Amino acid sequence: MTKATFPTARPATRDFVFASRRPAIAVLAVVVALVIGWIPSDCSAQTTGMVEFFSAGKQHQGMALVELAHEMIVLGRDGSIHSVDPRKGNNVRRIRDAYEPMPVTELRNQLRAEYGPEYEVTSTKNFLVVQPKGRGDRWPQLFEQSHRSFTAYMTKRGVNVREGRFPMVAVVFPDQQAMYREFRKLKIDVSRVAGVYSNESNRVLTHDGGHLSLIAATVRHEAAHQSAFNSGVHSRVTDTPKWITEGIGQMFESPAMTSRQSGSRASNRANTDSINLIRSTLSDRNEVHFYKAVVQLIGDDMLFDSDKTVDKAYAVSWAMMFYLAERQPREFAKWMNHTAKRPAFRNYEKADRIRDFEQIVGLNPLDFSKRVQWFIESL
Ligand SMILES: [Zn+2]
Repeated sequence: MTKATFPTARPATRDFVFASRRPAIAVLAVVVALVIGWIPSDCSAQTTGMVEFFSAGKQHQGMALVELAHEMIVLGRDGSIHSVDPRKGNNVRRIRDAYEPMPVTELRNQLRAEYGPEYEVTSTKNFLVVQPKGRGDRWPQLFEQSHRSFTAYMTKRGVNVREGRFPMVAVVFPDQQAMYREFRKLKIDVSRVAGVYSNESNRVLTHDGGHLSLIAATVRHEAAHQSAFNSGVHSRVTDTPKWITEGIGQMFESPAMTSRQSGSRASNRANTDSINLIRSTLSDRNEVHFYKAVVQLIGDDMLFDSDKTVDKAYAVSWAMMFYLAERQPREFAKWMNHTAKRPAFRNYEKADRIRDFEQIVGLNPLDFSKRVQWFIESL
């Protein structure tokens, strides 16, 4: 996912995407902290800052989170986040309505109109799933089950989880080509993926063109991002270190994380791909390499930026988060709760990331790295 100001022109890695407009928002980082606090917890009480605007040929309404001469960041009533240039043809005008999330029935109708007669929109407790007609309920069940497992796992460890304000939208395209057409439309620049969670649209996009078991791990990963950003486990407008967001995504790839027979052993819940990568390239002969990756991930997100290091970044992030969640759940919860509450649209600087980590987790990076490595070897 993909982040905002903070994501200073960060290229989208594998899956979690802030769309390509993000670099524009990056400029705001410094200013924004002065301009806004954060979305009030009770959005519906808000009567100021509501605007109506045109984007992608459609009229939208939403609450302005950030207002600058050249850019406005607006939270739409459907949960999407828009970057609007008031100087261009968006016809931004202020309205007096209070902010209300869009009712489910209205959002369902909007999705029907958007995707057309070949798709159906199925609602579950937490989701609106758009899928080609006649695909039954395995996709809606997969998303619902993933979300339930996610909130149960987090709640059990003391992470703050709240009800989402918007139904989560998941769109299942009939095949990869149709999914990539949508990516191009949304200016999502990723390749070789089975799906993404897009922070701006707040949707998971995936496809039904392969064997479900082959894309299920990706879908569980993306669904975990969506659950995290909609339940307050992460914030959509703060700069969360990528090893945290992607470590969580990787954790939920394992089928045991979302099945009822998950078993009590941590080894059953481990991400096999990540373990294999760590064992083959960062094994105990290479303690220093593992430590170096840990230190770098705590301080910045650069390992995710290069094709040469991105696989290592995902694997080591998984190991770090899985160790905390399974072996130090109290620190895991404190750490998650801290990063979710940081100020909106403000860069999380390296020195602060390292200082907060040491303070909250209670370990210096070297000792932490050793514990993570022992834990991974024990699995
Ligand atoms: Zn991810």
